[in-house]
Amino acid sequence: LELIKKLEETIENVPDFPIPGIQFKDICPIFLQPKLYEEVIADLADFSRGKIDAVCGIESRGYLFGIAIAVALDVPFVLIRKAGKLPPPFVGEKYDLEYGSAEIEMKTGHLKPGQRILIHDDLLATGGTTEAAAKLVAKQGAIPAQFSFLIDLEALKGKERLQKFDAEVYSILQY
Ligand code: IMP
Repeated sequence: LELIKKLEETIENVPDFPIPGIQFKDICPIFLQPKLYEEVIADLADFSRGKIDAVCGIESRGYLFGIAIAVALDVPFVLIRKAGKLPPPFVGEKYDLEYGSAEIEMKTGHLKPGQRILIHDDLLATGGTTEAAAKLVAKQGAIPAQFSFLIDLEALKGKERLQKFDAEVYSILQY
């Protein structure tokens, strides 16, 4: 509860960014407080301890917490990147945005078949990005076992979209 309060005070709400009508949550002030960052990692690591074999973080803010979770739990970390940045071999997954589409990619061979995977990102909105990440994990025979986020924008119903994976979903803060 203490952690939730501290985060609520720290995360900045930016109205009408990047487009009118959007309430943008800026998590960057967390990094000005190393002790608070440590508490966030400890909380996210507790959720996944003993339950996963590797962590996948989504570019780019998913890396800021994901790699620290992986190190805390002594498991591998694998990057999910936006298309066009990884050298081959990699696998990709396209997904729809409100306007147009996007694609994410991951190195092949870094996840092992049967591994239980935590997919981590800073924020869950519609769940489109996370859903594509989970499909990428499943394509390689690994199991999307857990999803974690700092923030869940509940009105956008991302959590419901992730139900199909039969995985645990955790967020520290809900708006
Ligand atoms: P989704 O695919 O609709 O769930 O969008 C989630 C992705 O968009 C995540 O990678 C987030 O980092 C990013 N995102 C969406 N809204 C916000 C926000 O208000 N603050 C920070 N990131 C956001």
